[in-house]
Amino acid sequence: STQIRLRRRPEGEPTPDDFETVTTELPALEDGQVLLRVRYLSLDPYMRGRMSDAESYADPLQLGDVVVGGTVAEVVESRSDRRQVGDLVLSYSGWQSHAVADARHTRALDDAHPPSTALGVLGMPGFTAYAGLLLLGRPEEGETVVVAAATGPVGSAVGQIARIRGARAVGIAGGPEKCRALVEEFGFDAAVDHRAPDFRERLAEAVPDGIDVYFENVGGQVWRAVMRHLNLYARVPVCGLVAGYNDTSAPEGPDRLDAFMRLVLTKSLTVRGFIQNEFEREHFGAFLEEMSAWVADGRVRYREDVTHGLENAVDAFVGMLAGRNFGKTVVEL
Ligand code: NDP
Repeated sequence: STQIRLRRRPEGEPTPDDFETVTTELPALEDGQVLLRVRYLSLDPYMRGRMSDAESYADPLQLGDVVVGGTVAEVVESRSDRRQVGDLVLSYSGWQSHAVADARHTRALDDAHPPSTALGVLGMPGFTAYAGLLLLGRPEEGETVVVAAATGPVGSAVGQIARIRGARAVGIAGGPEKCRALVEEFGFDAAVDHRAPDFRERLAEAVPDGIDVYFENVGGQVWRAVMRHLNLYARVPVCGLVAGYNDTSAPEGPDRLDAFMRLVLTKSLTVRGFIQNEFEREHFGAFLEEMSAWVADGRVRYREDVTHGLENAVDAFVGMLAGRNFGKTVVEL
């Protein structure tokens, strides 16, 4: 197997020297195991957190570990009745070309949708949007839902599901091309470019009735601009803070914690962090059924940003954190 391992912990934006590529022999299969050839590797923002040793919801990678990640793989050898050679499965094999896995830790994929969608719109990011928006954001008809990183797999699903529920969807994204796609391709009601010099004014114009649900993906200056538009009883599912994942120190400027707490009180806000797997057992089945139908009938569209070759994974990963991706970032092997 060719593997990308963590060589040292990145300081700020990861660089190629933080990783090493190693070719290694895999152990022989034991009963119940399968040998997998990875076809698609998912690149997700949370992996940046696993590369650091700061305390988080998941244990950090150790130096020398293969970098983690969701994968779509083909079974090339099987010692399990559950999987046959040739089956396509969802596995958690990480940044490597081949892996040995317990067959029970793989999920068979049907061929109703392209296999890579199991890593995006019909996988963990799509589920994150679905659960975070519907269970925590709970948008009502006519309400305004705002989401940033809005062309990514989480954000694009948030906006489209909000519209299915009859809410008004406003997306925030980096650059005019992404903003155009939000309206023309994903059907958002409005889009605002967070890189534009007049971002704050444009945001104010896009939410004339205030914001009822802010699905928080990024934090930083986007959150500071959004805050002042939150309505009474607004819900803020806190899903991610990707603007700060490469930060090495606290942001500059005044401490805004007291102002934030005052806002929580005076606007009776519900600010609720979550990690998607909290809801997986109870809601993943319903998600897969409902989302598959929405994708099939075109009510939910998705984009994928495909990079070819494991050797380009680090570049693609760094680019995704900086917004150079357009849609769900995957590496095709
Ligand atoms: P994306 O594909 O949307 O990639 C991240 C995007 O973040 C970039 O493309 C960029 O988009 C945007 N971004 C980066 N820096 C900034 C910045 N400083 N200001 C504004 N936007 C920025 O990622 P995902 O859809 O996979 O993930 C979105 C969020 O959801 C992340 O925060 C992630 O950690 C979180 N997440 C949380 C889960 C949970 O269980 N809580 C599960 C899955 C994801 P642009 O060019 O538009 O700025």
